[in-house]
Amino acid sequence: MSTNETQLPANFIRQIIADDRASNKHNGKVATRFPPEPNGYLHIGHAKSICLNFGTALENNGTCNLRFDDTNPEKESVEFMESIQRDVQWLGFTWDALYHASDYFEQLYEYAIQLIEQGQAYVDSLSAEQIRTYRGTLTEPGKESPDRNRSIAENLELFKRMRAGEFADGEYVLRAKIDMTSPNINMRDPAIYRIRRVHHHRTGEAWCIYPMYDYTHCISDAIEGITHSLCTLEFEDHRPLYDWVLEQLQTPCHPQQIEFARLQLEYTIVSKRKLNQLVTENHVSGWDDPRMPTLAGLRRAGFTPKAIRDFCERIGMTKQNSWIEMGVLEYCIREDLNENALRAMAVLQPLRVIITNYPDNQIESLEISNHPQRPELGKRIVPFAKVILIEQDDFAEIPPKKYKRLILGGEVRLRGSYVIKCNEVIKDAEGNISELHCTYDLDTLGKNPEGRKVRGVIHWVSEQHAHAAEVRLYSRLFSVPQPDNEANFLNALSRDSLEVLADCRVEASLSNANIDHRYQFERTGYFCLDAIDSINGKLVFNRTVTLRDGWVKD
Ligand code: ATP
Ligand code: MG
Repeated sequence: MSTNETQLPANFIRQIIADDRASNKHNGKVATRFPPEPNGYLHIGHAKSICLNFGTALENNGTCNLRFDDTNPEKESVEFMESIQRDVQWLGFTWDALYHASDYFEQLYEYAIQLIEQGQAYVDSLSAEQIRTYRGTLTEPGKESPDRNRSIAENLELFKRMRAGEFADGEYVLRAKIDMTSPNINMRDPAIYRIRRVHHHRTGEAWCIYPMYDYTHCISDAIEGITHSLCTLEFEDHRPLYDWVLEQLQTPCHPQQIEFARLQLEYTIVSKRKLNQLVTENHVSGWDDPRMPTLAGLRRAGFTPKAIRDFCERIGMTKQNSWIEMGVLEYCIREDLNENALRAMAVLQPLRVIITNYPDNQIESLEISNHPQRPELGKRIVPFAKVILIEQDDFAEIPPKKYKRLILGGEVRLRGSYVIKCNEVIKDAEGNISELHCTYDLDTLGKNPEGRKVRGVIHWVSEQHAHAAEVRLYSRLFSVPQPDNEANFLNALSRDSLEVLADCRVEASLSNANIDHRYQFERTGYFCLDAIDSINGKLVFNRTVTLRDGWVKD
């Protein structure tokens, strides 16, 4: 992907980087990284960080690494690592190098030895619980551990024995020796290594001690020569620790940490822990359920990388956490699909219409063209015959006020075809409408004879030519705008976020529907083939988004 040549909107990060380049800081170089923990699939919040990190590199002729922050082996897996790579590439980005924090375990260990030798780290035997109580609070300073003044020699020996597996999990930790009275709790001798006997998906059983995130992250950045370490706001209070570690170790490079606001999107959640819970407790069909805010889910629902990148640019980059309306994301996908989706007709809830005065075995090939800006996406031949299907709700026996569709004795135009008039309603034994008998007017193909008033235009398919399809209509997964703020977010799950219409009919041109294509079904929305369930000729369409925003409050 190449950078956009047009002027990009200013934001505080673009400004910092432009200034740094102008002053030749970091030798004018820009190197970023996207550092996911492989403990879940990427979500729309990650997309913001991906677009920022990769985008910043592209805009500045720099580099961006993908780095797996894999220091928590219990929750991480190869499946997650693979999905993350797939999703970053799908969004349209290519990393300059792929690394793992675990690639640096040996170096991180050496650096820890250096801290101990410098008298800046010590092995502590306090329990996790004790460390917590010794830490103090926002208003009270912390208390020093009795182990804080262990000799360097003793610390070195204990730390080496920790690595050698001589102690039980939790028996000791290695802590940075900073300041137990610091107003910043992160600086009160944070743990930097803990003992944990757990299999690591890359290093196997090689290690029984694992470095903590804050310690690992800054050193990994420095090892890779990152210039700007872009992260979310909650790390602001960790920045002094980031800088402290690098200063003590005199690393050859000292990246600059810059924080930005996390994306919070209404009617959904962007916490991997909670998304994981939705999957493992079967509230959704998987990480790629089209209702999920994961990139895999959005992809399966029919969202395009372009729309998501556009969304990430549109929401801007600030230092204030705020909630973004779902309508913004939907706007971006509509913009893209309105321009780029193929046009088609699909009848989601079919009602049979017999055109009684149409010759029995006649089939006409009507040319329909309904994308004036990009005719190649709208032009096609649609067969017309005596029996057609229309939407059940495009006919009303007792029409509501201002009803513009078909009524008994009324006329309506069939898109790209004739005007028909309904003469008779046929009902089954239970009194349900089973079919309509209509007549067509030969003079009305492609034109309205003078003086003729037709109430509206409806879509249709020829019964004998149409293909059966299942259509899945999705709506918001949660019924409240900020489910994350609920006591139990599961209680805010919407009960009707999925509606399956099993007996739909789509126009003949969709027989070669392709999973890479997007479709605008006339009047019903934008759709794509379901990548998983459309097999053996079965057509399953997912609705990506409705044609218009039905959520706007009146
Ligand atoms: P989660 O709370 O979902 O586990 P995380 O921040 O722990 O999120 P990581 O895998 O560590 O997830 O995230 C990788 C990168 O993506 C980090 O730099 C993180 O700051 C960024 N990121 C994660 N969530 C968001 C979000 N909602 N908005 C913007 N950036 C995000
Ligand atoms: Mg994280």
